[in-house]
Amino acid sequence: MLQVMLQVKGLQTFYGKSQALFGMSFDVEAGQVVTLLGRNGMGKTTTVNSLMGIIKPSKGSILLDDIQILGQPSFKIANKGLGLVPEGRQVFPNLSVRENLIATASNHLGLKQPWTIERVYELFPELLSRSTSMGNLLSGGEQQMLAIGRALMTNPKLLILDEATEGLAPLIREKIWQALGHLRDSGLSILLIDKNLKDLLKLADRHFIVEKGLVVWSGTSDDLRKAVKVQQDHLGL
Ligand code: ATP
Repeated sequence: MLQVMLQVKGLQTFYGKSQALFGMSFDVEAGQVVTLLGRNGMGKTTTVNSLMGIIKPSKGSILLDDIQILGQPSFKIANKGLGLVPEGRQVFPNLSVRENLIATASNHLGLKQPWTIERVYELFPELLSRSTSMGNLLSGGEQQMLAIGRALMTNPKLLILDEATEGLAPLIREKIWQALGHLRDSGLSILLIDKNLKDLLKLADRHFIVEKGLVVWSGTSDDLRKAVKVQQDHLGL
């Protein structure tokens, strides 16, 4: 039996008086790739920000390996093993690629084979040739590779990507999917938000469809491939 790594139950999150999550629940098993799907504005980013402690849910539970992380500050949650690749990349514009990677390097979980800059360059050879370039001079694709590299340098047990390939050219997108495939094969658990269902079906084990702040459908890639009406009703495909 697979072990549940992340268990999210009944999250309610507000922006002021306006409620965005209405009992969000899902889980990620160790070594799995899990997606949050759904149209714009349904609550996926709010869910990610709630997990990371960027915004505090008013109700619910977030267990990471059976430890409650809801209510903890972001840096403690990151130290416990959640690594975020945020929407919009957010790399440091005035640091070089190498400096960006050094800036987040840590190994709070004491992994035996921690991520190093060299390993990130092996995963993304494009970054090696841009090693001394400033963050703001990178292409969108290079920035996304760097954002993933930075998250890996924190040695997370769960990598979270919010809009993994948004705005990227097809060739670059393909490189990101390949890299995520390598990470999955190495045993890393991944929580993924993206719009490219075809690629997600190939990569992911399970999917959760979010609508108006809660999960309305969940299943495996096989289940979702067959659920044409679910795709039409909730993903607009
Ligand atoms: P997208 O793909 O467009 O980011 P999403 O599924 O990630 O969509 P969220 O960004 O989580 O959705 O938005 C969920 C709801 O919360 C929406 O109604 C949105 O308008 C609202 N919301 C998001 N951020 C804020 C904010 N900073 N202040 C107020 N309301 C917000």
